[in-house]
Amino acid sequence: MSLDDLYKEVILDHYQHPRNRGQLADPDVATRGHNPLCGDEVLLAVKMDGDVIQDIAFGGRGCSISQASASMMTESVKGHEVADASALADGFKELMSGGGSTDGLGGNEDLEALQGVKKFPVRVKCALLPWTALLEIIDRWETSGKNSQN
Ligand code: ZN
Repeated sequence: MSLDDLYKEVILDHYQHPRNRGQLADPDVATRGHNPLCGDEVLLAVKMDGDVIQDIAFGGRGCSISQASASMMTESVKGHEVADASALADGFKELMSGGGSTDGLGGNEDLEALQGVKKFPVRVKCALLPWTALLEIIDRWETSGKNSQN
């Protein structure tokens, strides 16, 4: 099996069997990301427990890359502290924007598989969409939601 096939297999698996797809009953923060170039839409919602992303779910519709990336992203950050999720998002953005280093991914092989997308520059925005939504959620939580938690 070539590396290309491996990339495709991992991405297809997440696309066809998305993790954490659905809705949260009582999210603390939610947002919607949109990639007009491709028509991708990602709805993202999180439930916080202190500094930990207790639960996360995504919805929306779009191409296989955007949906697989959303599935991988939710799986990667669920149960983790916000600081770790934020660092992972930065590491992934760095990788996809041409950094070329997977150092920031903490050995997450599924995410590493997404770097095959870099060969198709148009699709990089698809892969980044859910991560941009995650960073927006973290930003919002840190500026407002965090303080209003009881
Ligand atoms: Zn797309």
